[in-house]
Amino acid sequence: SNLTLPQLLERAAQTYPDRTALAFLGANTSYRELWQDAQKFALALQKMGVEPGDRVSVMLPNCPQFVTAFFGTLLAGAVVVNTSPLYVADELEYQLKDSGSETLILLDTFYPRYAQIQGRVPVRRVIVTGIQDALPFPKNLLYPIKARREGTWVEVPDSARLLQYTDLLKFQPPTPAPAPRRPGDLALLQYTGGTTGVPKGAMLSHRNLIANAEQGRVWMTDLKDGQEVTLAAIPFFHVYGMTVAMNLSILIGATMALIPNARDIGMVLDQIEASRATLFPGVPTLYNAINNHPDTPKHDLTSIRACISGSAPLLLETARKFREITGGANLVEGYGLTEASPITHTNPIFGRQEEGSIGLPMPGVDAIVVGEDGEIVDTGEVGELWVAGPNIMLGYWQRPEATEKTMRELHGLTWLLTGDMATVDGDGYFRIVDRKKDLIIAGGHNVYPREVDEVLNAHPAVLEAAAVGLPDEYRGETVHAVVHLKPGASATEAEIIAFCRQHLSAYKAPRSVEFRNEELPKTAAMKILRRQLAEEAREAR
Ligand code: ATP
Repeated sequence: SNLTLPQLLERAAQTYPDRTALAFLGANTSYRELWQDAQKFALALQKMGVEPGDRVSVMLPNCPQFVTAFFGTLLAGAVVVNTSPLYVADELEYQLKDSGSETLILLDTFYPRYAQIQGRVPVRRVIVTGIQDALPFPKNLLYPIKARREGTWVEVPDSARLLQYTDLLKFQPPTPAPAPRRPGDLALLQYTGGTTGVPKGAMLSHRNLIANAEQGRVWMTDLKDGQEVTLAAIPFFHVYGMTVAMNLSILIGATMALIPNARDIGMVLDQIEASRATLFPGVPTLYNAINNHPDTPKHDLTSIRACISGSAPLLLETARKFREITGGANLVEGYGLTEASPITHTNPIFGRQEEGSIGLPMPGVDAIVVGEDGEIVDTGEVGELWVAGPNIMLGYWQRPEATEKTMRELHGLTWLLTGDMATVDGDGYFRIVDRKKDLIIAGGHNVYPREVDEVLNAHPAVLEAAAVGLPDEYRGETVHAVVHLKPGASATEAEIIAFCRQHLSAYKAPRSVEFRNEELPKTAAMKILRRQLAEEAREAR
C-alpha cells in the first residue's frame, strides 16, 4: 500500500469505528477514540513547537498512551525514537544524545532515571504520564499529561502545555496542522538490541513498517479482518512487537489486549482468558515460561489460534508443549532483525513446517547465503544470510560507515548483511547456524553455541541455558555452560557434561558448567544476553 502509518490508523478508524482497538486493565478504547486521541496528541505536540522531522523519544511499556503517542508523533510529522523502559540512566543518556531528541514522553515511574541525566541531554520537553491515566477513573481525562521542564514542576506557558481532555475538546474537530509525510520518509529510529556492540539507530520508514505488517498478513492467510484479538505481550518499544502486535493489528482491525509487563506470567494468563485472544506473537522465553508456570493448567487458553515466535531459536519441545496447552494453536518459528522491520523469514503456517528451520522468505523478501568471497554458496553450505525487500531499513542514523558495511548493492537490489550464518536446503528452507560473532573456536574447531544450547535445553532438569566461550591457554577457547534449573529439579556438573557428550562431538561439549539460581540476564526483547554471560564467566575465573 502507499500509505503512511497515521493513514493506516485513520483507515482502521473509518472501517471499524466502534471496534475496541485497545483493551487495557479493563478499560477499552475504540478505533474512533484512538484516532481522535492521536490527533489531539499531534496537535498538542505542534503547539509545543515540535516540527516535522524532529525526534520524539517514547519510553513507555505497552499501554494506550504508547499507541497514542506513537501515532500522534507521526501525525505531527516527527520521528518516533523507541526507548526501552529497561534502560538505566547511562543508556538513556546515550540514546537521547545520539538521536538528538528534544522531546521525551515517559511513564512517571521512569522519571528518576531521566532526572539523573537532565542537563546533559538535548531534551527540552518532557511529557509524563502514569499508568492510571489510561484507566477510566476519572473518565473525563485523556491523560493528565504534565509537562515537566528542567526538573521542577512548573506552570508551562500555554504554547507548550498539554491540555487536559476537557480542554482539548475545545478543538473541534481536533485536526492537527497537516504535516505532509510520504511513505518513504523516516518514521522510526529503532536502536539495535545491543547484544553486540554499541546500539545504532536503524532508520525505518513508514513504508518499511507497513510493508512488514502486510507481509505478516499475507503469510497468516486466514486472518479475519475486524474479528481478531491480538495478545500484545511483547513490547511495542521493540520493532518485533511493534510490527506483529501493533501495526498488523491495526492493518486488520484487530483488538490489541495490552500487557504492560510480559514477565508477569500471571497477568498474561489472565489476559488471554479475559480477552479471548486469538493471535499471540511471542518469543521462545515467553512460551517457555507459560509452559512451566504453575497456574497455567487453571486457565483456558484454547482461544489462541496462531502464534509466531521470533527473536531466538524455538526449541521443538517448547512448541510442542505450547500446542498441547492451547489445544492445538499453530506456533511457528520466524526470523528477523531490527534492520528488516523485523521479519524476513517464517515457516508457513498451513504448509510444511520444517523443524529447526526459520522457514521461507516472507512474500516480497529475497534471501541468499553468501560465502567469504562474496559468492552464493551451494545448497547446504554455511554462509552469511543476506536479505532484500521493501522492509529493509534506510540505513543507520548518522553512521554512514556502519551503513556501508551492512548494506550492499548487487543485481539491482539493496541487500542487508544480517551477520547471521545460515544454510538453505533444496526446498528453500533456511536454517540459522549462529551469529557470526558468537562463534567459539575450541582447539581449532568451530563451535556454534546455539547447537550446544539446544542440547543443554533438552536436558530434563534444565529450564534455560546458554553456552559461551572462555579463553583457554591450550585450546584458545573452551565451551562453558551457564544453566538455570527448573524449580525443584537437580543435576550435577558431571551429569550435564555427560549428557552433552552423548549428543555432541567431544570438542563441542562444555568442559565446565555453572549453575544459577535466578533467571539468566536478558535483553528487553527477552533474549538471553550471551555476551554478558561470557564476560561474567571470564571475570569469575
Ligand atoms: P544486536 O543486533 O545489537 O546484537 P539483537 O540481537 O537483540 O541485538 P535484534 O535485531 O533484536 O538485535 O535481533 C536480531 C537477531 O536475532 C538476528 O540477527 C538473529 O541472530 C536472532 N534471531 C532472530 N530470530 C531468530 C530465530 N528464529 N532463530 C535464531 N536466531 C534468531
